[in-house]
Amino acid sequence: MSWLLDLIYPRRCLFCDCVQPVSDHGLLCDLCRNQAVYVGKAIDNKVNIRYVDECYSLFVYEKPVSDAILALKFSNRPDKGVGFGTLLAEYAKINIPEYKEAIVVDVPLGKKRKKERRYNQSTIMARQMSKVLQIDFLKDAVIRIRETKAQSTLGSKERMMNIKGCFYIPDPFKLEEKVVIIPDDVVTTGSTMNELSQELKKAGAKKVIGITVATSVVP
Ligand SMILES: [Zn+2]
Repeated sequence: MSWLLDLIYPRRCLFCDCVQPVSDHGLLCDLCRNQAVYVGKAIDNKVNIRYVDECYSLFVYEKPVSDAILALKFSNRPDKGVGFGTLLAEYAKINIPEYKEAIVVDVPLGKKRKKERRYNQSTIMARQMSKVLQIDFLKDAVIRIRETKAQSTLGSKERMMNIKGCFYIPDPFKLEEKVVIIPDDVVTTGSTMNELSQELKKAGAKKVIGITVATSVVP
């Protein structure tokens, strides 16, 4: 019956939205698969992300990947988050050996931004990752206790100051001795990921692994 579903709802490429041939069961069309610059390795644990034990990014933040991320964040396309969640999970299966004992946590969004976007893209990715990997998703493990400016509007130092102390963990015991995976769309300076990891570590997390669809830090 899957061929019938493909006829009614043709599968579209996750990055460029073109209709893929029904025989292709991947998420990307051939063009995007060849065009996207794959990173697929841990970015260096430099100053900004010293609390993150490992940080993986799948692609460089440029077209066609960036278009899909922008659609997810600004054009009401939560379906992109599901596709990204699948990509991240497939990557984790191969590259993160301890994923089976891990839990997934989402990056909390400020109330104002959540209202504008109507969903939290990190929550969608986290839920999908937990589904594909068959591990627990601890929703709202971390909450945001104050609004922050959009990190993309700030420089490296300001980003760090902007995010400082904005997260809170209501039930730290749930994180004790856990390996925690945090999915997100883009990592730039890593200050959000780092601040979140610091809180998770304070709560007793054993290891924190960041995994993002793209990185704007050229490796
Ligand atoms: Zn494509």
